[in-house]
Amino acid sequence: MICGKTEKQLIHEIESFHGFAAPGLLIGAFMVDLLYNHIGSSVEADAVVETRHCLPDAVQMLTPCTVGNGWLKIVDFDKFAITMYDRFTLEGYRTWLDLDKTKSHPDIYNWFMGLVSKKDLPIETLRRSIFAAGHSVLSIQGVNVEPDFAKREKKGKIAVCKKCKEAYSAWQGDICLACSGKGYYSAI
Ligand SMILES: [Zn+2]
Repeated sequence: MICGKTEKQLIHEIESFHGFAAPGLLIGAFMVDLLYNHIGSSVEADAVVETRHCLPDAVQMLTPCTVGNGWLKIVDFDKFAITMYDRFTLEGYRTWLDLDKTKSHPDIYNWFMGLVSKKDLPIETLRRSIFAAGHSVLSIQGVNVEPDFAKREKKGKIAVCKKCKEAYSAWQGDICLACSGKGYYSAI
């Protein structure tokens, strides 16, 4: 069982949540499972994920932590690692995909390092390797999270943009970033 689910359940739930059963999310499920084994499921834990790819969804699917509720933070290191920690003591564990350990599971190593095409390593084969490897390709270490980092972000002061009349975070200045030409869209 991984996070209290059978392999079949896990794959099914990942498909409904993420669109398809991405290998990164399967490994992520083993990471969350390992973290809960260490930290205990009764601790009120916040999470940090060190990449935007796949892993945040493992945390959002298998723990109460989401980006939206602020209990999950993403740092953009593009490292395959997750930390979960007690939000009161800031003590917790960081787990990562340990490259050295993946060397005894060449499918996982080759996939992670981008050394094989999807044609040469069918997803079914890779999945079997991931389930066979389980926790054995992960390392885990106790950590203390920096207090400044762990602070839950509060909403800043709100202002109303003089140009678009929408509410926005006041730090952006007299008009919102979108109206100052720093937006991501143009009106049609
Ligand atoms: Zn505006």
